[in-house]
Amino acid sequence: MLTKVVVCVHCGGEDVVRNGKTSNGKQRLLCKGCKRNSREERQGPRYSEADKETILRAYMERPSMRGIGRIFGVSRPTLIDWLKKRP
Ligand SMILES: [Zn+2]
Repeated sequence: MLTKVVVCVHCGGEDVVRNGKTSNGKQRLLCKGCKRNSREERQGPRYSEADKETILRAYMERPSMRGIGRIFGVSRPTLIDWLKKRP
């Protein structure tokens, strides 16, 4: 069985522990490295088109990947990917 390595979205550290659930039922994680909470990163798309549109629009308003990542929990590679695919 493969063990999925969960890394911290903030510092990339692997010393991440489960820390309950978020209000919408997502797994919440606490990084022991930087002591910050993050949501579990899943493989593949997990945002609806509407979510994506909202996030991209927010990014156009204030182009800060760090800020957008913090607000929406979207990883930087995901955001970059969306921006590339944006028509
Ligand atoms: Zn961290």
